[in-house]
Amino acid sequence: MSTGCIFCKIISGDIDSDQVYQDERVTAFRDINPKAPTHILIVPNEHIASLNEISEQDKDLLGHLFLVEKRLAQQEGVAQSGYRTIINTGPDSGQDVQHLHLHLLGGQRMRHPMG
Ligand code: AMP
Repeated sequence: MSTGCIFCKIISGDIDSDQVYQDERVTAFRDINPKAPTHILIVPNEHIASLNEISEQDKDLLGHLFLVEKRLAQQEGVAQSGYRTIINTGPDSGQDVQHLHLHLLGGQRMRHPMG
């Protein structure tokens, strides 16, 4: 838990969210400003600021984040139509919240991010 981190407060329940999943390692909730019909954030319960902070000991946790994403994509009905995974890291990416999070976006045709 990092004092002042909005996602830590969501994980602990101090701030309300539209939570769709939680276990002992990760929490998933709907983005407050959705960019697609399905826009879910999947975050580790432990405060890790960004991909720049991960270490060898986080390998299992990171795999778990993706497995939870896969399950949520199925639950949301976008597994077959397709979905996009985004992880922003650092200023050039536009990372706003300094707590590692994976965006799951789906439910509409998206423009390819590489143009
Ligand atoms: P990023 O730009 O990758 O750091 O993404 C941060 C995301 O967190 C944005 O898409 C915001 O809309 C979202 N967000 C910020 N505050 C909240 C909140 N209280 N509940 C849900 N999503 C939030």
